Amino acid sequence: MAKSYDDSNVFARILRGEIPCKKVHETEHALAFHDIDPQTPTHVLVIPKGAYIDMDDFTAKASEAEIAGLFRAVGEVARMVGADGPGYRILSNCGEAAHQEVPHLHIHLFAGRDLGRMIG
Ligand code: C5P
Repeated sequence: MAKSYDDSNVFARILRGEIPCKKVHETEHALAFHDIDPQTPTHVLVIPKGAYIDMDDFTAKASEAEIAGLFRAVGEVARMVGADGPGYRILSNCGEAAHQEVPHLHIHLFAGRDLGRMIG
C-alpha cells in the first residue's frame, strides 16, 4: 500500500519556515542544515524541498532535476564544510527497519573524525 506524506513532520515545518534550523546551504531543490543532535563533529542533513517520505518515495516520484539537485547539494555541502579532503559518510534511513524517525527524506552527512568502518 502506498504511504502518504504527512506534511506536519518537522522537516516540512522547517521548509515552511515555521521552525528554525541552522542552515548550511540552500539551492532550488535542496536545503541543508545542522542536525539538532549531532553524532559526529560535523553532522548535516540534506533534504529535498519536495514532499518525499524517503529514498524509496523520492526515487519513484521525483524529477530528474530534483534527484540531481539533491545529490549535487550533498557534494556542495561536503565541500563547504571541508569534509571532501579527509572524507565523509552519507546515509539515509528508509522506513521502519532502518528506524527512520522523520518521514521526510533526509541524507545524513557525517564528518569531522575518523568514522570507522562501515556499519551494518
Ligand atoms: O534518519 P532519522 O530519521 O533517524 O534521523 C532523524 C534526524 O533528524 C536525527 O539525527 C535527529 O537528530 C534530526 N532532527 C533534527 N531536528 C529536529 C528533529 C530531528 O535535526 N527538529
